[in-house]
Amino acid sequence: MGFFWKRRKKEEIITLGLSQPLTEEERVSVERAETPTAAAAPEQIVPTVVEPVTPAVGPTPEVDRQRDDSASRVQNDSRSVEREPVRSSVFSTSILGLDKSIEELQAEEAALEQAFAARFRRAISATRESLSEKLDTVFQGRKQIDAELLDDLEEALVAADIGVATTLDILDRVRRGIARQQINDLDALKAAIKNELLTILREAEKNGVASELAVPENVRPYVMMIVGVNGVGKTTTIGKLAHRIKAEGNDVLICAADTFRAAATDQLAVWAERTGVPLIQQKQGTDPAAVLFDALKAAKARGTDVLIVDTAGRLHTKSNLMAELEKMRRVAGREVEGAPHETLLVIDAVTGQNGLEQARQFLKTAGVTGVVLTKLDGTAKGGIAVAIAKELKLPIRYAGIGERVDDLVVFDPEQYVNSLFE
Ligand code: GDP
Repeated sequence: MGFFWKRRKKEEIITLGLSQPLTEEERVSVERAETPTAAAAPEQIVPTVVEPVTPAVGPTPEVDRQRDDSASRVQNDSRSVEREPVRSSVFSTSILGLDKSIEELQAEEAALEQAFAARFRRAISATRESLSEKLDTVFQGRKQIDAELLDDLEEALVAADIGVATTLDILDRVRRGIARQQINDLDALKAAIKNELLTILREAEKNGVASELAVPENVRPYVMMIVGVNGVGKTTTIGKLAHRIKAEGNDVLICAADTFRAAATDQLAVWAERTGVPLIQQKQGTDPAAVLFDALKAAKARGTDVLIVDTAGRLHTKSNLMAELEKMRRVAGREVEGAPHETLLVIDAVTGQNGLEQARQFLKTAGVTGVVLTKLDGTAKGGIAVAIAKELKLPIRYAGIGERVDDLVVFDPEQYVNSLFE
């Protein structure tokens, strides 16, 4: 082994002490992953000791101590209780609370689900208000469905960022329903739109990795790559995810492979410290694939359950970035069978259709299996979730509903659609 562990402060941050060069075998493994056509000049791997960074770069959210432990131990996936027997999932069942009766645990879980549902509803209240205001205007004083009403409806849906193509598709189906006399009044029309939105979101769940319950227990380390352009909330999401997965009793490790921006690693170090999850980092400019290689080795050596990998998100050198991500995927796959098992694309809901356009760049090469939609709390255009599902054909796995460590909820299509039309 060309590395050793350096532990610090209750093992909150572990930095690789890379005072020894990679062995020949390790170097060959990383180099073999070079793409012959990669636009990036091959980076020299010169591992050095990088000390953990003290939280100096802000602002980052405070961990909400009150809600922290108890709230996160029981997972906030309201669907988990409805689904058939919990399959082998790495982070589906909490083993905590053995001193409590099953009824007590169920009651606690139900209360938490309600709390999370309420927070989710609050987070998309701006979208709901804007949409329902427009729908009210559309429906006001009207008794029957006519062409003008459908045109106004189209405008309202587009304004919520559901997207032109998706809106036209929805209205097409609605028109057919009207022609077949299945939709005769305004209530039926509203119900039909709700149903169309839900169908789109459910359809997308047939692709990628749609649920935490799909995670097989025997895969270790389960490797999750997090991709997306800078500023969308990638670092924050990694912190939240690490917290969530750890709270379910898993051993988590974070790999700081965005070596392009020094600040990225600093921010990640802050989150790692807050969530008490170890972090593998190297100095700025190191080949991200080499950092990942070290992290994978470390994860295997430690028996880590889940490895979360941060990646670069610079847009101005797009082709280099995509080549870099491809190389990382190859390194991951060679070190751990089937890795990366999940690649989550982070999209900022506030950027709406622009974000969707950026996201498409990643779909070509990054092997994305699902989406995290962040900042849903900060926009009235939360309809973008439907556009993402329809146009990217990817399940929305999580929604970011704030800056705090537990402001990440499992995205539930039904809850989302119901919250929009309350
Ligand atoms: P990165 O550049 O993609 O790593 O983005 P960061 O994780 O640093 O996040 C950028 C900004 O967005 C920070 O100020 C975060 O606090 C904020 N942010 C991230 N996720 C959310 C969210 O779900 N809701 C809100 N309101 N802010 C968020």
